[in-house]
This record gives sequence, structure tokens and C-alpha cells, in this order.
Amino acid sequence: MLYSKRDVDDFQNIALSESHIISKSTFTMMAGPCAAESRDQVFRTADALAEIGIKVFRAGCFKSRTDPYAWQGSQEEGLKWLDEVRQQYGMKIISEITSFTNYAVVAECSDIIQIGAKAMYDHSLLIESGKAKKPVLVKRGFGTTVTEYLRMIEYILMQGNNDVILCERGIRTFETSTRFTLDLCGAVVMQDVTRLPLICDPSHAAGKAKYVSKLAMAAAALGCDGLIIEVHHNPSEALCDRDQALTIVEYKELHKRISEIVEINGRKII
Ligand code: PEP
Ligand code: MN
Repeated sequence: MLYSKRDVDDFQNIALSESHIISKSTFTMMAGPCAAESRDQVFRTADALAEIGIKVFRAGCFKSRTDPYAWQGSQEEGLKWLDEVRQQYGMKIISEITSFTNYAVVAECSDIIQIGAKAMYDHSLLIESGKAKKPVLVKRGFGTTVTEYLRMIEYILMQGNNDVILCERGIRTFETSTRFTLDLCGAVVMQDVTRLPLICDPSHAAGKAKYVSKLAMAAAALGCDGLIIEVHHNPSEALCDRDQALTIVEYKELHKRISEIVEINGRKII
């Protein structure tokens, strides 16, 4: 299998070496709102995050909503705001592709292609992103075993794109007190059996802002390679995933604590 562990050099030489988004000596913080809602909202969050030093800005423009009557995202208009963020702050953009119909437009605007937990079984998306010359972050499906997940990842690697980032974002268990269960067991297994970088998404796992920081610190302590966290300048107004969004102040505090944890592991936060 192309995802399998070979030696440490593989990680440094292949995984994201061209993009320098993730490396063995750094710890990558990706942050931003769940969705790009308006130009004002995007810029308020991006401005605050740029000040903290965030280099990778996340925001979905095509949203994969469970409720078909819910707001479906700012779509092409939102992508233009993200492009402006890139120009203004020099941040890399990560945005989610939800179906083949929006693949081309989102991939073009993104520095990192995001394939979400619901879309990760879409072979056409995996194969197409495998042909792209950009990093691809694939979230683990919430009903997907580690083995099944890594098999799906192989579809990308087979096409020649080695810049793949794994993302543990919580799986569905019998426990309902959090939105999903962050599978830290799965995370350590993935670190053991693959050579690919792994980041954690405590926001979607927790589903509640007050639990996000502790899960983020646990993930950082176990040696994952980064975090993707939802932040909103005013969570009570968020159009999507409102309950799990951190405020800027909460995120700033978390960023400081994560930086201390990763330094103990010999890594520098970026
Ligand atoms: C998201 O990142 O906003 C998202 C929809 O995540 P997931 O695919 O993990 O549900
Ligand atoms: Mn979200």
C-alpha cells in the first residue's frame, strides 16, 4: 500500500514538502469559520487570525448540509472572498469540495483541497484530487474504520499525488453527549501504520465549543501534526455549526497552550 510506513524520510521528502504546510518540525494550525458567510464575517475572522499568526485559513463555501432546507453556503461568491484573504494576508486557503459539480471551482481557489467526512467515499473526487498538484486533506468518515479510510486514501495516492493529509474528526459511537467521539485510538493507529501526516479536528468531534480546547490539547500531546479548528468572530450569529465555534479570544488562549505543548515535543507552531 502506498500509504504504509516506510521510513521517516518519506514523510519529510514526500508529504507536503513542496507546499511546506506540514513538516516534522512544525505543527500546523488551520483555523477559520465553518462557512464563509459574508465578506465582512470572513475578513473579521481572517484579520484576527492573521494577527495570531495563523497561516492556513479554513472556510467552506459549498456546505454539505444534512437539512436540504438549510442555508447551503455562499458558493462562488464566498470563494472570491477567500481569494481576497489569500491576497491580503498571504494565508493559504483550505475549502471543502462536496461533489464533483463544484470540484473545479473550489480546487482552483484552494491551496489545500478539503474532502469532507460525507464525501470521502466519492471515488470521482478522490481520483480527481489525486491528479491535482495540490495537497488534499481528507476527513475520515464518521462511520469509517481506519482500514476503510486508508483504502480510500489510496485512490488519491495511486494517481501520483503524495501530498495527502489525514484528518480525524470524530466517529459515531453510542455516546451522544458529544456530537461525535474523537477517535484518539484511531489516531495513534494511523500514526503507526501510515507515513502520512495526521491532523485532528476537535470542533466537529465535540460539537460544543466548551469541549474543543481540551480535545485539541490531547490531540497535540499525542503527536499529531496539526489541528483544524472552527472560529467565528461572533458564534451566536454563525449560520453553520454555531455551537462548536470558538470565539477569537478563546482561540487565542488555546493557540498559546498548544504552542507550549508542541514545543515540549520539539515542534514549532505555525
Ligand atoms: C467542515 O469542515 O465544516 C465539515 C463539514 O466537516 P466534516 O466533513 O468533518 O463534517
Ligand atoms: Mn463545520
